[in-house]
Amino acid sequence: MDEIKVFVPATVSNVACGFDIMGFPIEEPGDEMIFRKREEKEVVITHVDCNEEIPLDARKNVAGVVSRAMLEAQELPFGVEIRINKGIRPGSGIGSSGASSAGAAWAVNRLLGDVFGEKELVSFAMLGEQSISGALHADNVAPALLGGFILIPGYDPLELVRLHFPSDLYCTIFHPQVEIRTKDAREILKKEISLRDAVHQWGNVAGLVAGLMQEDYALIARSMEDVVAEPVRSLLIPSFDALKREATAAGALGCSISGSGPALFALSRGRETAEQVRSAMEKVYEDKEIGWKSYVSAIAGEGVKILS
Ligand code: ADP
Repeated sequence: MDEIKVFVPATVSNVACGFDIMGFPIEEPGDEMIFRKREEKEVVITHVDCNEEIPLDARKNVAGVVSRAMLEAQELPFGVEIRINKGIRPGSGIGSSGASSAGAAWAVNRLLGDVFGEKELVSFAMLGEQSISGALHADNVAPALLGGFILIPGYDPLELVRLHFPSDLYCTIFHPQVEIRTKDAREILKKEISLRDAVHQWGNVAGLVAGLMQEDYALIARSMEDVVAEPVRSLLIPSFDALKREATAAGALGCSISGSGPALFALSRGRETAEQVRSAMEKVYEDKEIGWKSYVSAIAGEGVKILS
């Protein structure tokens, strides 16, 4: 195989209470990426189609960072040319950099003849995330690579668990078109939390996992609460409280920040409710100058897909 074209889905990470340890992919939007082997043993990014400025330098673009690390680990058997069509706006909170990192890990592994296993791919993809945010986190790249609802119980060593989830759980994404860099959104977080908040948060994580596995919607709803990151990060999102209030009033089980924002996500039982939640959130922005994008999607069972 000399060339491969893939689709890589956007992802919701944190999922309210699971900061850095939980995430799932949605069906759209996503990035399309083409990887072609080249004889010169170098990684080059020849094209990035995106409204925002994304680096073409392979040492700065996350897809280049990941590809270079993988090829170097295999003693550079060949080089790779990468073309990226960004369907996911950078700085959105729905895993734009994570998608490019995951797509690179998956596709370069294919070109190498599937030499790396699942955890190794996630570890390589995390290098892309680290290169821009300074932190090694897998809650976007793991679900983008593996599909489904992914729990990361530990990073040292890396552990990945596919959680069962109810098939009629739907996700609404509301993305105000303001940009928040993951790096900045991490820097404003408090470095320490009280024991009281910690107990609250780990109770919610346990409740959400149990709720998903037992298909207990009331428990899912009660557990979709974040007392650590949301109180601080929500201040960066215009009308966050109104969006959350209206989403819940329209029937969402819960609503919080997707990743580090500004996108919000809500989970609902059934597509119809998720659509009503979308309309309710759109109404909040009706008279605002700020643009927005919204999506309704099932939780995607599949991660990276081959297009050709
Ligand atoms: P998101 O949460 O949407 O992924 P991030 O803030 O984590 O947003 O990532 C966006 C940053 O990563 C921007 O500074 C962007 O220039 C940089 N970046 C580097 N390569 C890529 C890429 N292939 N796709 C998206 N962003 C990239």
